[in-house]
Amino acid sequence: YTLSAISAFPPSGLQLLNRDSFQNRYDYDVVVIGAGHAGTEAAAASARLGARTALLTTNLDTVGQMSCNPAIGGVAKGQIVREVDALGGLMGQAIDATAIQFRMLNRRKGPAMHSPRAQADKKSYQNHIKWQIESQPNLDLRQETVEDLLTEPSDSKDPQESATQRVVGVKVRGDAVYLAKTVILTTGTFLQAIMHTGEAQSAGGRAGEGTTAGISGALHRLNFELDRFKTGTPPRLNARTIDFSQIEVQPGDDEPQPFSFLTSEITTSQMPCHIAHTNEAVHDLIRENLTRAPMYSGQIDSQGPRYCPSIEDKVVRFADKSSHQLFLEPEGRQTQEVYVNGISTSLPRDVQDAMFRLIPGLEKASIMRYGYAVEYDFCPPTQLWPHLESKSVAGLFLAGQINGTTGYEEAAGQGLIAGLNAARTVAGQSTWVPARQDAYLGVLVDDLVTMGTDEPYRMFTSRAEYRLLLRQDNADRRLTAQADQLGLIDAPRRDRLAEKLEQIRIGRELLAAARIEKSPADVYLRRPEVTWPMMCELVPELNQIAPDAAEQCCIDIKYAGYLDRQQMDVDKQQRMSEKRIPVSFDYNRIGSLRTEAREKLTKVRPLNLAQAKRISGITPADLALVLAHLEH
Ligand code: FAD
Repeated sequence: YTLSAISAFPPSGLQLLNRDSFQNRYDYDVVVIGAGHAGTEAAAASARLGARTALLTTNLDTVGQMSCNPAIGGVAKGQIVREVDALGGLMGQAIDATAIQFRMLNRRKGPAMHSPRAQADKKSYQNHIKWQIESQPNLDLRQETVEDLLTEPSDSKDPQESATQRVVGVKVRGDAVYLAKTVILTTGTFLQAIMHTGEAQSAGGRAGEGTTAGISGALHRLNFELDRFKTGTPPRLNARTIDFSQIEVQPGDDEPQPFSFLTSEITTSQMPCHIAHTNEAVHDLIRENLTRAPMYSGQIDSQGPRYCPSIEDKVVRFADKSSHQLFLEPEGRQTQEVYVNGISTSLPRDVQDAMFRLIPGLEKASIMRYGYAVEYDFCPPTQLWPHLESKSVAGLFLAGQINGTTGYEEAAGQGLIAGLNAARTVAGQSTWVPARQDAYLGVLVDDLVTMGTDEPYRMFTSRAEYRLLLRQDNADRRLTAQADQLGLIDAPRRDRLAEKLEQIRIGRELLAAARIEKSPADVYLRRPEVTWPMMCELVPELNQIAPDAAEQCCIDIKYAGYLDRQQMDVDKQQRMSEKRIPVSFDYNRIGSLRTEAREKLTKVRPLNLAQAKRISGITPADLALVLAHLEH
């Protein structure tokens, strides 16, 4: 299971397949491989657009499964969930229906930093997603293991199309093929995956599951570049064996805020989480056993997520810290399993057991699942167009962890974009991707296809240059009208937005008309100490404005100066984005272009000057040369 082993895969010859030679043959517009977070959103989006869609996944009992922590959202990730929801995706409603605790992070900071996060009842979440998929018209969910991608030479004469191959379907285990006009690959951490716990290694993309080798072979045969990443997960404990009296309680918010713009209120009861701490004795134990940690023994040499380090990593990198927080998160209402957030590890089992003996409250804790690390193949995403279609194989889309990202939310967002664009491609429509100034999802896909990633990519607010505009509270105002035009949403969501916009309009009118202390009420509201409840006392008509619309009125008015300035930056950037570069543009024509710039531009093939500017190592002088040639 090493990269070099891939070349040993025999060429399957299936690209020359006689389509009629398979007894079991199914025809679809879009086939999605893998029903994780990317695959389920991709399939749902494609089917909502009317494309006949098949979602093929190895095990129907793991649809929408959370491989790692039982939580959705968090800083920048919560914003993505709100965007997925605003575009008609599944994730927001699923977590609202199944969460056991809600918290709005960074409440003390400005609204751009407010980030919703919720603990999920893991099994219920998964069942909810599965039910949504099963109930979706135009969508067939099937238990199938995909073994190969079927392609044929591309016959396109379109100079805008760079692909030399075209996908025509997939072959599954057991002599059956699914033919399709587009295929979306969302196999997560399963490609040639190896799990590590101490010295022990086994093949598999997630504990208790197998690995996928055929798809790596197919990608290799199709000349895709593949690389390796690793990620890890912590042990799970039995709550019965934890002494909760010794550890701090972390309750949910008193007024839980839903993720979905369609959920009016959260009425379910919330469960508490708890916070424990590591100590010097634990750190000493880890240091003594570092040679047995696959990361340090040389057993793993691929890159892991820098911002989600294992406990052995933390002890080495932050050697001066005498303690780290451990968040004990229940995995659901009907299980005693507790996820220990903060202690991801691939140390051997005996060391994992011994670590807990040294932590107050967890001395007697019994591990139900040991932590492990997993190494897997991913496809460097500069091989994709922004709409997530391969540059070399037409009709083949890639979304989720296979593109080098980490996280359920990043996967879900990419899935939605891939599903939407696969269905639009089948319908002969132009592709659609949100711009960086419109959504974190725009930042995500642009970062991936323009810069690639040399470590598992997760979203941060700092990745977005216009984050004052990209708030969790306004994702519907930013995206739902576009989703409506694209056919992604239905009447209740459309009506909900219209109602909210109308309420905002009325609120703004009332504020402009009323006077407080001789100045217009909206000017008075700008004062930092003035809140909406105070305004309602002074202008009682404002009581008719619903809380979500009131929040928008407040933010629009209080932050008007900052928002206007950011909008001016957006407009400036927009002018560069309008300077389009043809796909077939030949950078070799620019004799004076530096070799590094020529190579990078040829590899990424930016679609406009603004994207070219974001490629690392491209200088203003390179851009000036490209611009000069574009204008000739
Ligand atoms: P997945 O959710 O992995 O879904 C892939 C799907 O494809 C699965 O349903 C699988 O059965 C199916 N599949 C695979 N091969 C085939 C095939 N040949 N045919 C049919 N179906 C197939 N993220 C974080 O943000 N933080 C973390 O700390 C973190 N830790 C992780 C630890 C572990 C051990 C793992 C495995 C993942 C971790 N992740 C973490 C990542 C997170 O789980 C993923 O980012 C997210 O699940 C990716 O979603 P996805 O849809 O791309 O893939």
